Amino acid sequence: MDSCIQNEKYVEDAEIERQLSFALEVKRHLSSDSRFSDSAPKYYIQTLGCQQNEADSERIAGLCRLMGYEETEDPASANIIFVNTCAIREHAEIRAISFIGEYKHIKDNDPSVIIGVGGCMVTQDHRSDKFKNSIPYVNFVFDTGSIHKIPELVLSSLQGQKRKFLTEKDFRIAEGIPSYRKNAHTAWLSIMYGCNNFCSYCIVPYVRGRERSRRSADVIEEAKKLIDSGAKDITLLGQNVNSYGKDTGEGVDFADLMRMICRIDGNFRLRFMTSHPKDASDKLIEAMAEEEKIAKHFHLPVQSGSDAILKKMNRHYDIEKYMSVIEKLKASVPDVSITSDIIVAFPGETEEDFEKTLSLVEEVRFDALFSFIYSPRIGTPAADMSDQIPKEVSRERFARLMDIVNPISLERNTRFVGRTLRALAEEQGKNDPRQITFRADSPRPIHVYADKNMIGNFADIKITKAETFSMNGEIV
Ligand code: SAM
Ligand code: SF4
Repeated sequence: MDSCIQNEKYVEDAEIERQLSFALEVKRHLSSDSRFSDSAPKYYIQTLGCQQNEADSERIAGLCRLMGYEETEDPASANIIFVNTCAIREHAEIRAISFIGEYKHIKDNDPSVIIGVGGCMVTQDHRSDKFKNSIPYVNFVFDTGSIHKIPELVLSSLQGQKRKFLTEKDFRIAEGIPSYRKNAHTAWLSIMYGCNNFCSYCIVPYVRGRERSRRSADVIEEAKKLIDSGAKDITLLGQNVNSYGKDTGEGVDFADLMRMICRIDGNFRLRFMTSHPKDASDKLIEAMAEEEKIAKHFHLPVQSGSDAILKKMNRHYDIEKYMSVIEKLKASVPDVSITSDIIVAFPGETEEDFEKTLSLVEEVRFDALFSFIYSPRIGTPAADMSDQIPKEVSRERFARLMDIVNPISLERNTRFVGRTLRALAEEQGKNDPRQITFRADSPRPIHVYADKNMIGNFADIKITKAETFSMNGEIV
């Protein structure tokens, strides 16, 4: 399965230029189509999965706009539909298949609609074969290394050429592809791609290739552009950001990069996602403690509270090491919000192992915990382990974990009640449009009755009430 080709680290400039010229050719093609004389052709992107996929979808959107498409929120009115899939758990794959099936009906009504499927799911060989052989209404499939080739794929679909499948797993960095972000004030910024860790349950290294970091100058330039165009909350993305820079030869590590970004003029907050506990350095904790612009929030996935399970997971740390990082963090950054990921019912997890996870959760007192029932992924070592846990046991353990996690989340949010936090007005409330959702350093949303014009600005918010997953507040 691991057939990744990694000749050079970057896609050649000439290839990027070739793709950008295909984009302009698509635009010319569309502008000569009488169907679009009154209104521009429309694109729709369905994104599943993590922040990295969201960042990839922003690049797909950037290319769509370059090709002359405008966004629509309604897939039924789109001329081109993208599904950016996720493969991290079975549930995500089932959802992607269901969306693709839904879009078939749109294409049945209008056969000129183009459907493109990308992302982690189609980067798995068994899935790309299935798309080739049994989903004929998909025009093209592109793996996570082929996003920059979308203009070529779209042009060939418009010209009525054969279906195309770009699944070579050529995982090089493609600089110079435009991104389109729906709002200017919050932004994902990918600083590295791929992963070298091969946790035994995880599909990511197989579908996103080996770890590769962008040049610090490219990251800084993108950060400056984002800040100049109004970004107030930037999240640096990578599967293991603490490994940043190991392959650049620049001598700039992740903590250095964060500090360099903090030196950029502007009123903004910096976040990052994700740190691996084995590499969580004192240097990074010091940067968080000292730099005002770095949000005091650390997402540090632990996955299990049992050393035996961590070993089977190939995580390369034990609970003593994990707790030493947590203790340093709490001591150096007094009001830090700590969040984590946990996998329940990994193969061979005994009741005793699981209880160790519960004890760890009680001890650390995470602000938020993302818990997942283990999902076997074809091609990963854990999927072949003989001691898989029965579904009833997984579900029961998951429910027990939630019973412990939720009161802790409420307790953590309650510490803010009565205090005033500097928070960014991010978006209109989803449940009550008279409310605006703010976010302070803690990742929990704060619901505030406020004017829509505040969106994109920081304000001091007094927290009036804590709930399990959110808080309420008022403008001071
Ligand atoms: N790179 C990050 C790290 O190491 O923490 C996480 C990336 S992954 C997209 C996000 C989370 O999905 C992981 O932390 C893990 O808890 C969960 N996950 C990954 N593979 C899984 C699997 N096969 N079954 C269930 N959860 C899984
Ligand atoms: Fe997956 Fe482990 Fe890499 Fe995270 S560090 S992406 S869990 S292999």
